[in-house]
Amino acid sequence: MIKMGRYVYRVLEPGVVYPFDAVSILIDQGDSLLLIDTGSGFPGVYEHINTSIIQLGLAGKPVKKVYNTHCHINNAGGDYLFHRLNSSIIAVHEGDAIAVMEGDNILTDSDRYNTDFHPVPVGHILKGDRGVLEKANIILEYLYTPGHTPGSTTYIVRDPIRTIAVIGDALGSLSRKWKSSEDEWWNSVEKISSINAEVYCTSVKCYNKQEFGEFLEKVKNEGAVWI
Ligand SMILES: [Zn+2]
Repeated sequence: MIKMGRYVYRVLEPGVVYPFDAVSILIDQGDSLLLIDTGSGFPGVYEHINTSIIQLGLAGKPVKKVYNTHCHINNAGGDYLFHRLNSSIIAVHEGDAIAVMEGDNILTDSDRYNTDFHPVPVGHILKGDRGVLEKANIILEYLYTPGHTPGSTTYIVRDPIRTIAVIGDALGSLSRKWKSSEDEWWNSVEKISSINAEVYCTSVKCYNKQEFGEFLEKVKNEGAVWI
């Protein structure tokens, strides 16, 4: 795992367990833990995140809540394990909530991996454009950044050392199968451009400010990619 702030750790990224696992961020809020995304949930992924929590000396603290950037299996596939084994509350923006609750294999992109998405109850449905979700060691805010999926959400983690934006696939490809919207995607590109952070994590990797600026320019020049 990688320490990213005083209370923030990267506990999963592509290639650590499977190449298609998304970045997963762990936050120590004092008396409890938060996760942003949980990876694919394929065998070994939950165990890897849990081992990281133990190695960090945080095993006594419950994973109170899982915040999802969106419903795709690479990001939210492990939610059901945290819900089942930790009683974690699952939070998803309303645009993606039904896909997670019903385990829709098309909307969650699970059909691509010839697997089923494990449905999980969504205890906190995020609504609207932005808001503050948590205030303790860090302040957690969300910014609604749809387009890739109808519920794609960016989280802004305000740690005392640095601010980290967790974008998921909001700058990623579009598909009719996922009910993607190119207009919404461009709006979200603009919203993400206005975030002032020191570190920016997509599902695939984390960038410093300068690297992310270059990446964002490339995304804007290439435009929306339909697959
Ligand atoms: Zn995605």
